[in-house]
Amino acid sequence: MSSVRNPDFLIIGAGIIGLSIAFELKKQFTDASITIIEKEKQPGLHASGRNSGVLHAGFYYTADSLKAKLCRDGNLAWREYCQENDLTLNQCGKLVVARNEEELKGLDELYKRGQVNGVELKIISAVEATEIEPNINTCERALWSPTTSTINPIEVVNSIQKLIIDKGISILNDTAYIKKTNNKIITSKGDFETGYLINAAGLYADKIAKDYGFSEDYKILPFKGLYIYANDDGLKLKTNVYPVPDLHNPFLGVHFTVTAENKTKIGPTAIPAFWRENYSGLEQFNLKEMLGIACIDASLFLANNFGFRELAFKEMQKYSKKKLVELAGTLLKSINQKDFQKWGKPGIRAQLINIKTKQLEMDFKFEGDDKSFHVLNAVSPAFTCAFPFSEMMIDKVKSEVS
Ligand SMILES: Cc1cc2nc3c(=O)[nH]c(=O)nc-3n(C[C@H](O)[C@H](O)[C@H](O)COP(=O)(O)OP(=O)(O)OC[C@H]3O[C@@H](n4cnc5c(N)ncnc54)[C@H](O)[C@@H]3O)c2cc1C
Repeated sequence: MSSVRNPDFLIIGAGIIGLSIAFELKKQFTDASITIIEKEKQPGLHASGRNSGVLHAGFYYTADSLKAKLCRDGNLAWREYCQENDLTLNQCGKLVVARNEEELKGLDELYKRGQVNGVELKIISAVEATEIEPNINTCERALWSPTTSTINPIEVVNSIQKLIIDKGISILNDTAYIKKTNNKIITSKGDFETGYLINAAGLYADKIAKDYGFSEDYKILPFKGLYIYANDDGLKLKTNVYPVPDLHNPFLGVHFTVTAENKTKIGPTAIPAFWRENYSGLEQFNLKEMLGIACIDASLFLANNFGFRELAFKEMQKYSKKKLVELAGTLLKSINQKDFQKWGKPGIRAQLINIKTKQLEMDFKFEGDDKSFHVLNAVSPAFTCAFPFSEMMIDKVKSEVS
């Protein structure tokens, strides 16, 4: 039988949040032993390696939110990190367009939020918007965000991984957290006892938190993000193009991203997924999860608190490539269906829902005490925010343990 291992800090999950927390922990607890356990064969195989790769600027969020506090600084931190470490960075900006007069109100609201959050932004005329991207379709004016940029998320994950290994942090791949018994943590590769546990397990964070007496009011509800790429000889936009989103839910609406490598892609959708890792077909099928999720979906459908019924109907239609391209096409003067043939790798959002109020949690959410800390809602733009988010987490951990 293998002996029990005792790192000072044990982190579950090697996504961008687990890796960044390890990075910041080592800065502040230089002598501490830190181990990350990851159930997959390498870090970044879930949300952190399956996202849009956008460094958001920070203008979507109300000033009282953590997202507002962390996004602007996170955007700058990653841009500097990419430049210092020679990683791909496309500082191509973003245009938010209004498709009709009604959406102009939303556009102005985003501008106001951006101003309060200290984000560099400009309201520009439709003519000026056309000078940035000739194919743009906007009513009267648009919002220009020069600091929105794109990175290659897998490249970034790999770079952080190398950095923290060089600093003496262990990453144990193929090692899944299974359960906790008294002080012991049972994994698929032996037992651990730790001074402090940090749960950054993404889609499974709520389940692990429950073992520690947290996440009582919450469950993770998975939403699938599909992408479709323009052919190499097809549409090539000069900047990211987004609609005015429905500010009642945390999703940004179908948009165009210009990737770090200058490819144009449409997506992501926010389709309710049937189980947590329901990427495609019956891959990772889990009947118990499916039944649990179906119950939550049914209760949301009945309560319809945040327009879930309409959201679910609209999103399900986006399984159709034709529909997805057509919807994205409303942001442009012209689009050719034939330009879009290749589906990208889908991602799944680990969206937290409050099961008592039947509302989606809009902001980042975490819970913890002097023994463990649980990152429960690290949804978009958590990749962008990862560095300042981790600094804040560690301040909380320090205040819990002191
Ligand atoms: C479609 C989509 C688009 C997005 N676009 C953007 C964007 O453009 N910009 C942005 O800033 N953010 C974006 N996000 C959000 C961003 O990707 C996430 O906020 C971020 O990746 C969350 O990181 P994480 O480390 O918490 O989760 P994850 O990357 O999911 O990592 C969690 C890790 O925990 C591991 N794990 C789970 N259970 C166990 C267990 N029992 N034992 C051991 N390990 C376990 C998993 O294998 C996984 O590697 C997007 C997300 C999605 C899904």
